Amino acid sequence: MYAAQLTFECYRDTTITAVEKAITSLIDSYYFNGQIVGREFPTVMKDGYFVTRVVCPQKDALQGHNNSAVVEHFSTKLSDAGLLQPKVKILGLDINSDSSDECESPSWQILYTTFVHSCSPLRCGDHFSPIALYTLPPIANGDFKTVLKWQQDWQACDQIQMNGALKAEFAVLEELTSFNSDLTRRGRDICKEIERLSKRPTYYYLYRVGGSDLQSETNRTCPGCDTHWQVDPPIHGVFSFKCDNCRLVSNLSWDFQ
Ligand SMILES: [Zn+2]
Ligand SMILES: [Zn+2]
Repeated sequence: MYAAQLTFECYRDTTITAVEKAITSLIDSYYFNGQIVGREFPTVMKDGYFVTRVVCPQKDALQGHNNSAVVEHFSTKLSDAGLLQPKVKILGLDINSDSSDECESPSWQILYTTFVHSCSPLRCGDHFSPIALYTLPPIANGDFKTVLKWQQDWQACDQIQMNGALKAEFAVLEELTSFNSDLTRRGRDICKEIERLSKRPTYYYLYRVGGSDLQSETNRTCPGCDTHWQVDPPIHGVFSFKCDNCRLVSNLSWDFQ
């Protein structure tokens, strides 16, 4: 992914409050369209202009043809706050992040995230690299807010269970691992919608931890249709289970790896 900066120049007198609101709204809309990733976008005030640091999945992410209707809306609102359209400068490749998928057309896709990943939660099934969301047809209301809200919730659950210091750990584990949890249902609905629009098989990753022993974990069946679903060797070293019928992938319980 690429680090970039956006420079917003003031063309008339304005207030910090108006500028802050205009820039934050635009940045949020970029985020919910997948054009920028991560959660913190520092903005600094200079003499007559403002600079915001962002991380983009691809070099051309912030070009106009990738904008959602919401991004377009907040771009036009900048002038109400006395700001010109931002100048985008690509600072270079971010050495800490995964690079985006290069495929023209992945043969399948996986909805997958963890609490450490800031990249797109949609991955190419062939290369396991993140797919920039704005390259897909928008799934609802013109952008990918439902997908990114799902990712935020998944990551929050993952963070709580990894830290393991709260009673809520059991509740969040249920969300992450149960086929019938709200989180799983929302994620699977997103997969169905992405599959319908992109015309590529799109799988949901069901997290697995615990279990009584290796034997029973290896032999466990698909929670959707109860059939044998083990794959050997694991796909991308992670997914030991895959059901084409239910569009599910899962790992061998982390307790037995
Ligand atoms: Zn790929
Ligand atoms: Zn199944």
